[in-house]
Amino acid sequence: MTAQEISRPVKGLGLCSGGLDSILSALVLKRQNIDVTWICFETPFFSPASAQKASRMTGIPLITMDITDPYMEMMKAPRGGFGKNMNPCMDCHALMFAKAGQVLEKEGFDFLFSGEVVGQRPKSQNKNALRYVEKNSGFDGRILRPLCAGRLPETPVEKAGLVDREQLLDITGRSRKVQMQLAKEFGITDYPSPAGGCLLTDIGFSNRLRELMTVQKKFEKRELFYLKNGRHFRLDDETKVIVGRSRYDNAHLLKHYDAQKDLLIKHARMAGPDVILTGQQTEKNIQTAAMICAAYTKAKPGEISEINITGLDTIDKKDRIRVETVHSDRFKDLIIQ
Ligand code: SF4
Repeated sequence: MTAQEISRPVKGLGLCSGGLDSILSALVLKRQNIDVTWICFETPFFSPASAQKASRMTGIPLITMDITDPYMEMMKAPRGGFGKNMNPCMDCHALMFAKAGQVLEKEGFDFLFSGEVVGQRPKSQNKNALRYVEKNSGFDGRILRPLCAGRLPETPVEKAGLVDREQLLDITGRSRKVQMQLAKEFGITDYPSPAGGCLLTDIGFSNRLRELMTVQKKFEKRELFYLKNGRHFRLDDETKVIVGRSRYDNAHLLKHYDAQKDLLIKHARMAGPDVILTGQQTEKNIQTAAMICAAYTKAKPGEISEINITGLDTIDKKDRIRVETVHSDRFKDLIIQ
């Protein structure tokens, strides 16, 4: 459709991470009277919080979509591979554009856009990577990158006159000088640092996720949330013990704890970690989890610790067991590094 054939403002739907580049990409379009809306995505690896903040700050409407299931499917074998850690950036962007494209079709947007800048990230934001994302999104020809459009071939969106190419930018590379200047012009002072906020770029989180995906294979969403906090121990292919290391860990683990599925294990008489057992609730595994729990309290090796077990299938329906306290080193071979 060309601009002449549309009797309403042209509508663009942009991916928003909440970072400066996504904010600027929308404002650059808004400046030429395009009606912009953002879409942001939610998984256990990244949250919509920054995008929500950007939306409040700019008044640009935001659609939020949970894409955990298709995301985990993609993570099994991302065709563009992983970055330094478990971040499949090219396929991640392709999936996000694919999901945004579904909204475009349903809600009647005219094109998609993002704040990607060619050359900003050597592996995931070079010209080939941007092409890969377009082709694999299923919306080739309908994606615009307003911040670096001048460095890329003219898109059908520009050719149709939906967007004035002359008013788009030609930023390239890793320097953020132009973006800072533009932020000043638009009066944007508060935005998160670039590349922050995705756990898939974190080495520790990536190691735990890789272990879960390769050893356990079958797992549920809450187990992905558990990966964010605590020390993780592998008991067998289906079973893990997660030990909160701080009040913060404990609180976050409990937020996702499901009493219908997992056991919650705590020292009955002493302050100590919240411990979660996922997987096989066998007598042996409960015993080991209780001993791990005791080992991370102030109980002395050799002392008998009484441990509370909360959840559905506790051994013999008892909710308290007694274990001998041992040093935590005894379990170091079970720790997932
Ligand atoms: S850093 Fe994370 S959210 Fe961003 S593109 Fe890569 S995988 Fe996706």
